This record gives sequence, C-alpha cells and structure tokens, in this order.
Amino acid sequence: MSASLEQRWRELQADWPDGPKLLAVSKGHPAESIRTLAGFGQLDFGESRLQEARPKQESLADLALRWHFIGRLQSNKVRAVVRAFSVIHSIDSLLLAERVARIALEEGQRPSLLLQVKLRDDPTKGGWSRSALEESWEQLQGLSGVSIVGLMTMAPQELPLDGRRQLFEECRALADRFELPECSMGMSGDWREAAAAGATWLRLGSVLFGARLHQAAAG
Ligand SMILES: *Cc1c(COP(=O)(O)O)cnc(C)c1O
Repeated sequence: MSASLEQRWRELQADWPDGPKLLAVSKGHPAESIRTLAGFGQLDFGESRLQEARPKQESLADLALRWHFIGRLQSNKVRAVVRAFSVIHSIDSLLLAERVARIALEEGQRPSLLLQVKLRDDPTKGGWSRSALEESWEQLQGLSGVSIVGLMTMAPQELPLDGRRQLFEECRALADRFELPECSMGMSGDWREAAAAGATWLRLGSVLFGARLHQAAAG
C-alpha cells in the first residue's frame, strides 16, 4: 500500500501546477499513510470528523503537522476542533464564526478560518450565499480571536467540468473582492479546473491516498 501511495504522490508532484498548495485529505485513511506522506515533506492534512481525527493526531504528535478541519462543524464540537486544528475550512454561518472566535480567545488559539460559500443551489451542502456573505462581512471583520483568510467551496455532484471551472472562477473573484488571499476549492475529480481558476488549496483525498477504506461523513 505504501508503495502505491508513494507512486501516486510522485505522479501528483510531477503534474503539480504553479500556485496552489496540496491539502492531503486523510479521512478514511490510517495514521501510517499520513506518516509516509510526512516523510516526503507533506505537512498539511485535512480531516472532516473530530472522532476520526483525534486518535490519528495523537499517534502522530511527534510530527509537526498542520491539521485542517474540512467537515461540517457542529457547535458542540467547536472547542475540541479549536484545540486540535489550526485551520478551519468549513465556517458556514455568522453564528458559527462568532462561536469559534469566542472559544478561540478562551483557549488562547488563533485559528485561520475559511468561509464556505455556496454559489449554486445544492441541498446537500451548507454555505454562505453571495448576499449573506455581503451582509455579514462587516461583523466578520470585527471578530477578534480568528484570522479570516479565505473562501472555500465545493461543486455540486452533477455539475460538469466546464461548469465547475466557472464556479471556481466566481469563487476566486468573490475572494478577491473581499481581499481574501486563500481559495480552498478543487477535489480529486476537479482539481485541475480549480487550479486554473486560482485555487490556493487543493483538497485531495482519493487521487492521492486511493479509495477510502471506510466511508467518512461527507463534508
Ligand atoms: C472528502 C473531501 C475531500 C476530498 O475528496 P476526494 O474526492 O477524495 O479528493 C475534499 N473536500 C472535502 C470537504 C471533503 O469532505
């Protein structure tokens, strides 16, 4: 297994576009695979469930990894997530942003936050609409305790690749309008489109690790 992980890692590296960083989405994969990638220099890992991430983080505590939370964040998990993750990609409401900021101050942490936006109808996903984001922007900017660094988005399952590229370009333009440097967009099936549109984080799971061993909850 680690031979083919190394092979996929090398293939991705050989193909890697200028600009975006790789977020290795390790949900559904064991700590040993994360350790293997860390040996190649990959230090940013994404997980979508706290219960799954914590044991892996503990067994990898000897490594200087940066953990990114990419799943839907329930309010009763905020404190534990703020303690265990330095970046949260899935802030989908003002209420959640305020809660994270308050708890981060209490915990003496300063997480980087990305606001998850939903620019197409998609009942399976949460996220800010363009207008909701505009309405909340002033309050978001006033939050101390957190750094709002960018936007995150996911394409609806049924959207074809050219539509995805357009969606990603809109997300990039929206981030630019708010002067947010980071854009977390693009997964295994559409990362080239996201990179071409100006993604700064590509969140890659299966194209890097192979098929997931068990089904992790969707972000
Ligand atoms: C699982 C997941 C990914 C990675 O998905 P792949 O298609 O395996 O690359 C990226 N982003 C989020 C939010 C996820 O939940």
